[in-house]
Amino acid sequence: MKNRKLKLTTLLMTLIIASVLSTSCILLFASYHHEKKSLTDTYLSLNSSKSQKLSSTVDSLFKSMRISLQETTKFLSNNPDLTDEEIQEHLELLRNNSRYFNSLTWIDETGLVRDIAPISVGIKGNFVAGITKEVVDAKKPMLTKPYMASTGRMIVLMSEPLYDSEGNYRGIIGGSIYLHEKNVLNEILGNDIIDQNGSYYYVVGPDGVLLFHPKTNRIGDGVKGNPIIPKLVQGQSGRERIFNSEGVEMLAAYNYLSEMGWGVVQQTPVSYVDGQLKEHIQNLLLIFLFPFIILLMVSLNFARKLAKPFIDLADVVNQFGTDARIKPPVFNSHWNREADLLTKSLIIAIEAVENNNNLLKEEAMTDALTGLSNRKKLNKSMSRLAEDRQLFSLIAIDIDRFKLINDNYGHQMGDKVLKFLARTVQSNMRAGDGFYRFGGEEFILLLPDTKSKEAYLIAENMRTTIANTISPVGKPITISLGISEFPLHSNTIENLFLFADRALYQSKENGRNQTTVWVQD
Ligand code: GH3
Ligand code: MG
Ligand code: MG
Repeated sequence: MKNRKLKLTTLLMTLIIASVLSTSCILLFASYHHEKKSLTDTYLSLNSSKSQKLSSTVDSLFKSMRISLQETTKFLSNNPDLTDEEIQEHLELLRNNSRYFNSLTWIDETGLVRDIAPISVGIKGNFVAGITKEVVDAKKPMLTKPYMASTGRMIVLMSEPLYDSEGNYRGIIGGSIYLHEKNVLNEILGNDIIDQNGSYYYVVGPDGVLLFHPKTNRIGDGVKGNPIIPKLVQGQSGRERIFNSEGVEMLAAYNYLSEMGWGVVQQTPVSYVDGQLKEHIQNLLLIFLFPFIILLMVSLNFARKLAKPFIDLADVVNQFGTDARIKPPVFNSHWNREADLLTKSLIIAIEAVENNNNLLKEEAMTDALTGLSNRKKLNKSMSRLAEDRQLFSLIAIDIDRFKLINDNYGHQMGDKVLKFLARTVQSNMRAGDGFYRFGGEEFILLLPDTKSKEAYLIAENMRTTIANTISPVGKPITISLGISEFPLHSNTIENLFLFADRALYQSKENGRNQTTVWVQD
């Protein structure tokens, strides 16, 4: 039974725990996804606006730089009489004032470095080659990709063509940015650019070469394996989740600067967003925990209460088939309709079975003809008295010459006489005494708390009553009687019967219609 109890309660509890757990998981999962999407979107748009801002900063910076170069060429065109030294001085002044360029130079149309500020660069009077020469030959405003200059520096060169007042080409005024040294870019964009959340930005040139990056040693290198670089090189702007060249997942926003052909990228590591997500889920779990436990406890209590009447019913049903008398369940009204109905039904069923049983038992112990209790009941009653060690007497009664009645008047009349005898004795016996049909036309009177002496008087009284009452055959019948006493004569029921019967036989022997008390020989 313990097992079955466990089963129903466990079943309900498992069901509840499973539902609560799965609901919480679904909620957490949904919240996780929603939060992840919203955090990703937030950081992508934050990065997008930051990269746009940086782009416009870089854009206006370079516009100013371009204007300052143009102003210089204009000044030089308008002042054709300036000596090299004066031009040198002018370039020095300009470089120091604006701090846009690491160096400012006048290279003439032949590629000769006529002036350079600061003079310490040390190439004044040299002829330039390579990209620098190509810039001179181009005769138009240019902004180069990063390249290694003859001084061994990685530079970007911005140039303006210089024409004299007659319109002759006089080379270029070039401003260079030393990528690996303190320059205008890192001065404007800053050095300490990695946020607390790991976000940072970088600037790439037209070939995907880094012009600015928080890891300064990477400046001048090409970015490989980062999917947004080819897009920037093609002139696209956008935002996306990518793996950068170092294999780190990033939420990146990129902006193309069409005038320079540069790209600005602002990005946040996904790991930071994941960390925030983790924190969010942990907070959610903490918020969940208390109501979750309360809900669980309430539900478990509810389950136990719901299961209780069914467990009780199962306990009752389990008694069926055992010899024990079934105790009907106690009806305590339950809020569950089925539990109530089942309990009521079971109570009704058990009562019906009980009544039926009692009826059957009663039937089995009753004589159909006379309605008297039979020998079975007599045995029971005597056993009970004997067990209680209670004194009692037994009067055995037998109709005299009954066979003759059957023979003369028929068996039916015989039956009527048996009924008549039963009726007559019953209406004359004492309240506490019992009258039984022992079998055939023999009867027993059981007299609790009565000695054989007193029993004799009662027997005689009964005998004379019968002998003086008209029976169904139209005249009185007679009976013979024999008496034994418990425990005086014997303390076994068998012997008491035997002795009463012997006494009865004695009455018959002595002429019938008389009473004999058993006497031990
Ligand atoms: P005795 O005085 O010696 O007792 O003579 P008896 O004729 O009564 O002899 P006995 O007791 O041997 O006979 C019993 C008879 O009772 C035999 C049987 O036919 C008859 N009898 C037994 N049960 C019934 C019954 O239920 N109905 C009828 N009608 N007769 C019965
Ligand atoms: Mg007989
Ligand atoms: Mg007889």
